Amino acid sequence: MTEKVKTFVVLMGAPGAGKGTQAKLLQEQLNLPQVATGDLFRANLKQETELGKLAKTYMDRGDLVPDEVTIAMVKDRLEQDDCRSGAILDGFPRSPAQADALNDLLEEFGGMINVVPFIYVDQEVLIARLLKRAEIEGRADDNEETIRNRMNVYKESTAPLLDYYSEKGLVVKLDGDRPVDEVNNDLVSVIRGN
Ligand code: ADP
Repeated sequence: MTEKVKTFVVLMGAPGAGKGTQAKLLQEQLNLPQVATGDLFRANLKQETELGKLAKTYMDRGDLVPDEVTIAMVKDRLEQDDCRSGAILDGFPRSPAQADALNDLLEEFGGMINVVPFIYVDQEVLIARLLKRAEIEGRADDNEETIRNRMNVYKESTAPLLDYYSEKGLVVKLDGDRPVDEVNNDLVSVIRGN
């Protein structure tokens, strides 16, 4: 029996754009698991694994965890059984090296990127959202200094990936400064291709 091609949705957007919120909704709607690198690091941190301890030093500053470590963690996650049909990638890839690694992984797994939805939100709105999340969730990296650094890291390392995926005709830009369900409706249409 030939295996079905795995489909991957790569959610792009700056910190605070709503990738996590949308990925959680999409899990049910698409019947694909959300693979969120930030959540995977935070789970490791909570369990005090070596990976968690290492990641913490970078996360606290708002820097990217080194590619090698991140890529190995994602590979491990994508090899799990619930990813047999694909996954919704949230927060990965975040650097050109990670995008290359994802290509290699897709080749290895027999997968393809279906679409790259880019959730766009103005920087001022993003910063306000992240500061509000800091009050509600108390995430250690949601303080003003770290937020600014995360924005810079996003612009320098992650935003260039939009050009890379645009050249492949995969990017669809969505206005993320709207109610969650409106963004979600658009996302579902975009992913289902209508
Ligand atoms: P946000 O999108 O709000 O920045 P995340 O939960 O996705 O939040 O990420 C939190 C932190 O986890 C990042 O600032 C970074 O330190 C680390 N991280 C997440 N994804 C990656 C990745 N793909 N590569 C390297 N570091 C990552």
